[in-house]
Amino acid sequence: MLEGLKTQKKRDTLVVEEINKCKCGFINDPIHKHKKIDLFLRNLVTTLNESLIKTYGCCSGHGKYHPTIIIDNVGHWKKELFSGVVVPRKTRFYITDSNSLYYIPEVEKFWKEQK
Ligand SMILES: [Zn+2]
Repeated sequence: MLEGLKTQKKRDTLVVEEINKCKCGFINDPIHKHKKIDLFLRNLVTTLNESLIKTYGCCSGHGKYHPTIIIDNVGHWKKELFSGVVVPRKTRFYITDSNSLYYIPEVEKFWKEQK
């Protein structure tokens, strides 16, 4: 999966680099399996995958953002597992901030509204 992303246009390459920095990413990537997943989420993501639930990306939030795991949604888009928020994109679920941490704006908005 990572190789596929690398062959895409430059912006996708940038996203992959940010994911590597973050130690998060795609568990379904056969090359980097389990190596890019934040420790906090590693067992949960592994358990989901063993239960045949595919994951497409994840991040612990690194103490700044809410933890996120991207899974399939019934219907067209993907869904973030903890919040249940539907992310209306096929790729590039995350946005990077100025400290190279990445987050999903729709998810942050959702949790802010719950307070
Ligand atoms: Zn992360």
